[in-house]
Amino acid sequence: MATDYDAPRKNDDDSGEDSIEELKGRRNEASTPSVDEDEAEAADSYELPGADLSDEQLSVRVLPRQSDEFTCASCFLVKHRSQIDHVEGKLVYCKECSA
Ligand SMILES: [Zn+2]
Repeated sequence: MATDYDAPRKNDDDSGEDSIEELKGRRNEASTPSVDEDEAEAADSYELPGADLSDEQLSVRVLPRQSDEFTCASCFLVKHRSQIDHVEGKLVYCKECSA
């Protein structure tokens, strides 16, 4: 912890803006050794990340509600697109409010 506090001080003395990039670079350098330590374990699962990434991308597309849900401009409830009755410009009204 002591070394972490000393590093930013020196950078702040030189220039405040550059210290941020210096910190990012030092963080990357600090995280690199831990990756090397896990290199043996990572080798076994080295082929998996590709499949994992594709799964994450699929799940991310499902999560956003905006794609198939909307917020009614009258009752302000988030409802499924199937509940859209009509749209006035950017305002979307659900079937319950239009009934
Ligand atoms: Zn509504």
